[in-house]
Amino acid sequence: MRIVFNEALKASLALVIFFLITIDISAQHKKDKVKLEHQIRRIDSAFSSSITEDFDHVFPLESVREIYASAVAEKFARQPGKSKILFINRDSAYVLLTGLFRFGNSGDETNFSNKYTGIYKFEKIHGAWQLMDRIETDRFNRIARQNIAADFLPGKEIHVIDTLTIDVNDFTGFAARLNHKANIKVVSLNGHETEFIFSGGLLWIKAAKGTAQKLVLDYVIDEIEQDDKNKNSSFFSSEYGHLRNQYYWHPFFSFSSPHDRADFVLKFTIPNGYHLSTSLTQKDTISGNYRIVTARSGNPTFGLSVYYDSQWEPNIVKAGETELAIYTTKDFSPGSEQLKEYFLKCHTTLQQHFGKPISNYLGIVQDRTSGNGWKNRSNSIIVAGKSGSYLITDNPQPRAVFGHEIAHGWTSPSGPATNFLMEGWATYTESIILASVYGDTIIEKFFQSQRDNYFNGNFEGNRSLWEDYSNSGVSYSKGAWLFYMIEHKLGRDKFFEMIKQFVRTGNQTIQAFIAEVSKAAGTNMETFILPWLKSKQIPFINVRLMGNTFKIEQKGDLFTFPLEIQLKFKNGKITDTTFDIQAREQVFELQEGEIESYLLDPRKKLLHRAEKQ
Ligand SMILES: [Zn+2]
Repeated sequence: MRIVFNEALKASLALVIFFLITIDISAQHKKDKVKLEHQIRRIDSAFSSSITEDFDHVFPLESVREIYASAVAEKFARQPGKSKILFINRDSAYVLLTGLFRFGNSGDETNFSNKYTGIYKFEKIHGAWQLMDRIETDRFNRIARQNIAADFLPGKEIHVIDTLTIDVNDFTGFAARLNHKANIKVVSLNGHETEFIFSGGLLWIKAAKGTAQKLVLDYVIDEIEQDDKNKNSSFFSSEYGHLRNQYYWHPFFSFSSPHDRADFVLKFTIPNGYHLSTSLTQKDTISGNYRIVTARSGNPTFGLSVYYDSQWEPNIVKAGETELAIYTTKDFSPGSEQLKEYFLKCHTTLQQHFGKPISNYLGIVQDRTSGNGWKNRSNSIIVAGKSGSYLITDNPQPRAVFGHEIAHGWTSPSGPATNFLMEGWATYTESIILASVYGDTIIEKFFQSQRDNYFNGNFEGNRSLWEDYSNSGVSYSKGAWLFYMIEHKLGRDKFFEMIKQFVRTGNQTIQAFIAEVSKAAGTNMETFILPWLKSKQIPFINVRLMGNTFKIEQKGDLFTFPLEIQLKFKNGKITDTTFDIQAREQVFELQEGEIESYLLDPRKKLLHRAEKQ
């Protein structure tokens, strides 16, 4: 008998097998998901326990273990937050893990919690899910624009409607940091409400890939900070106060992301009994009982700080090409005239050497929550305490503190070594400002004090300029020294020209900086600069003199640098010579005369440690 249904039967069998395999795969998929969810619960429970061994057991990343251990040591309360599997296949998965460390000001909490909260990659190894890596949430995404309308009710709340223009290129969606106390009312993407998770100080949004997407966030922060003992990140009294960038009162990625430098357009409303500074170039108008402050960023920026006060008597003066906006109470010292005079002096010195700054607006803003002094620079403003302090001094340690803050107007870097280009730069320029007042002899004294700061700060062996995202302090001392050594390498005139060029290009990454230095030097300067940025050390050299032969050895990380040595010969003659140090061990033989003694680095032009024999 012929089997007539042969072909049809084959097809049916194939279909049955296909369904069986599919059921099997989907069953396997379900099992994998359940196992991963189980692993996430273990991590959450380890996060809230106080046993670091338990946490280390499920969390293999050293950097996060350190954060967790320090939180346990400081007795910070810990609350695991929401989690979500963003992607899963047979052997890998991406998971949003969130958690909060509670210890005081919600801005500081948001900042610290984001060292844990984030997206992590998991891999299935021998059938078990293991956390493998932390994914930088800004890696493929970008914030291009922030259009912020904010209503300030001092002592009560702020209400923010932020319309962001974002590019999403990450399959895991879009995520940015935001103060964890924000009470979010609306999240809409391209006109539609969208799925989101707001937990552990991170706002994650389900977003498909696409450029120029419109994200609208509407939120209120009404659990405001009024703790007298904890006013750094924010303080919101009915008389005066501030929300600093580190309060995360608006969303951004981080303090060193190259991807959230955005164009800002602001419209702030505050009762007209107050003045308010947005940290950007701004205009005020009065409308009924309210003051409307509009502002716009001149160049892409991030992390805005806002200050307000009911007692300020603002004074806007023209200082050369710069509009100087002074927001202070009338008893603030130094007064407007002195500030203007001193601003002009510093600014002229800096401009003569380094060309024009990025913006020609500068605000000087009094923050009555803190003691006297020049506190920090935030975008286009210098923040002072209750009063300012001295502007420049040569004793006991030379400092040009006010000039330092003005010099921040020349750089606006992002990415690795951000703080080298920011704080290292501003500290280096103090040497130029000090020299303009006290003469060139002050320069050596200034850099010796920065050398002392480097060692007293315990940075040797512990911190690199490259990874100084948290601004530990190393970028001020070692950073200023690196600028100083590059100045020696290039010669002053070429160095000044190089900085002018670097500022003019508007591309302020460390790669662009190294490229400018290389161009000025006429040779690739990477091998000179990178060890200074990436090593946690400074050169540690051992010098031995046998007859007329120097043997120079590097005992720590390897650097390349010129080493000046002053030679004193037995016939009384003194000369200087420079050795080009390139390797771990080098021998230099001198032909002329008999050496009686020598002095390493006689003009103190190299940051180093030496073991002399
Ligand atoms: Zn600074």
